[in-house]
Amino acid sequence: MLDHDSQKDILDILRNRRLSSVFQPIVDMRSRDFLAVEALTRGPQGSPLHSPAVLFPTAESVGLIRELELSALEGAAMAFRKLNLKAKLFVNISPMSLVSANAVTIARNILARTGLSATNVVLELSEQYQTEDYSALTKSLAAFKQEGFGIAVDDLGAGYAGLKTWSQLHPDFVKIDRHFISGIDEDPIKREFVRSIMTMAQEIKSRVIAEGVETFEEAQVLRELGVRYTQGYLFGRPNAHPRISDNVNRVADRPAMRDRALANRKVIGALAQDFPSIDVHTRLEDVVRLFKTHSSISSLPVLLHHTPTGIISRQQVLEIFSERFGPELHGRKPVAQFMNDQPIVVEFDTPLEDVSYLLTEDVQQDLIQDLIIAQQGRYRGIAKTSALLRAITDQQISSARHANPLTQLPGNVPINERAQSLINEQNEFWVAYCDLNDFKAFNDVYGYALGDKAILLLANLLSEAIDSDIDFVGHIGGDDFILLMRSENTPDLCATICDTFSNQIRQLYDPVALGKKGIWSQDRQGQRSFFPLMSLSIGLVKPELTAGLRADDISTLASMAKKEAKRMPNGGVFISDTRHPGYWRAAG
Ligand code: C2E
Ligand code: CA
Ligand code: CA
Repeated sequence: MLDHDSQKDILDILRNRRLSSVFQPIVDMRSRDFLAVEALTRGPQGSPLHSPAVLFPTAESVGLIRELELSALEGAAMAFRKLNLKAKLFVNISPMSLVSANAVTIARNILARTGLSATNVVLELSEQYQTEDYSALTKSLAAFKQEGFGIAVDDLGAGYAGLKTWSQLHPDFVKIDRHFISGIDEDPIKREFVRSIMTMAQEIKSRVIAEGVETFEEAQVLRELGVRYTQGYLFGRPNAHPRISDNVNRVADRPAMRDRALANRKVIGALAQDFPSIDVHTRLEDVVRLFKTHSSISSLPVLLHHTPTGIISRQQVLEIFSERFGPELHGRKPVAQFMNDQPIVVEFDTPLEDVSYLLTEDVQQDLIQDLIIAQQGRYRGIAKTSALLRAITDQQISSARHANPLTQLPGNVPINERAQSLINEQNEFWVAYCDLNDFKAFNDVYGYALGDKAILLLANLLSEAIDSDIDFVGHIGGDDFILLMRSENTPDLCATICDTFSNQIRQLYDPVALGKKGIWSQDRQGQRSFFPLMSLSIGLVKPELTAGLRADDISTLASMAKKEAKRMPNGGVFISDTRHPGYWRAAG
């Protein structure tokens, strides 16, 4: 296209307001809700300028980028207001527009017209532009910040500067470029990149958004890397009316590390497969067609609105259709007339044991039938009975082998495996060795049943305090627990755990002991002595991830830290600075 024509086209777009905006969700994986939407601009439908990847470079080449971006901003703000979403609005803006004269004032006026506040708007500045005048850009960004706008670095990793440079701007958000997210589950280098961005972002207090998430596997890896905000086709495509896909629940509900280890708490939802569903009005001939195109599907759930009301199996349908004149007689009738209208519907978070009990308790129950999984009554997927049986068997075997029988928490084997994989991934982590003080005296006086209660109380407290997406609790045995922690505030968290324990444990003592702040019992030499109320000691160490470090070393480092912690009266956290076995290997 000639520049002259291009200029005419862009001017036409500007004069006749021929831009439109679509919005893509940026999802908070914890709340499963919108953090924000990103506005993406579209040129006139059917024109070569429809795609923003053509539109904006064209406008730039004819010197109209600023005008076009301001027009896009106004359009996006207006459409966003109409959506009435409780979310922030992210908009793309080029450095050329940012540094142009009176940019802040113009942006302020646009927002005033649309009734949006700057504090709800985040400007995305792409790393892909090469910036010559860095100081002008910094100055201009500071003015926008002053006005209340948020700042995001877009396409991080795709451009020139890298986060080190951007860190001086203190962006509120950094968006990791799609290139590093795509296939991250199969690429250790990409994982390393994201991990280092996470660390750096924590230091400069920016929040990280992963762009271009397309698969469950990518999402799962991001979750384990601690990435909380995501954007991508898996969770929602750009649309005039953005919606978060149900896939968010599927990712968030996938059993996290702790739950996977806590095999006995596995829920039926983990077995749900994403089968298509049909509506009660669907014609039988269309059902046949669905079965033909999806050859792996054995039955289809039938929904009324979103609620499962029936199920129809491949075999049922084929039988009807193989009758003489079956297709002609029944093809156009609604599936509701043929379905099994008493399907087995199970809520997503029902433990596997409960489901198996429910099935076997009722002798009438047809065990071949697929189960419908629902969440708050809405259809979520199908689980096969065979998968249920297999999962129950697996979990019984693995929990017997690996979990502590009292707390069901993972024991030594999984603890070591987890430590080893953190070492292999060169993933910085804390090890916390948790040990009760004066437990033996309590156990002697109150009996082992209450002793078990004290251990369970600690197990629950630990499991609840940690972030199960990234942290790990293991139970070595007795009153000894190990945490493998990646939460950034681990030392504070451990201190809080010690305090909470001191409070909660009081409920297991009688009033007399509480009054005296302890109990009388025999010490190890058989002498009657006074023992204070139980307290928790935590020895904490951040192993130095040097070459040759092994899982055994981790447990030794942790034991050393615990020994120091035990010296402190009334428990508490001790942080060890012996971070590498070299110190004692050299000494011994
Ligand atoms: P961007 O800012 O990186 O926006 C994200 C782009 O990635 C969008 O393409 C979006 O549709 C696409 N995308 C989102 N999730 C996925 C995914 O899971 N997989 C894949 N393959 N792609 C995904 P779109 O809308 O075509 O925009 C392309 C680029 O055009 C944007 O990249 C942005 O740089 C630019 N752009 C869009 N709107 C504006 C605007 O209003 N102003 C300016 N200056 N640039 C804009
Ligand atoms: Ca963007
Ligand atoms: Ca981007």
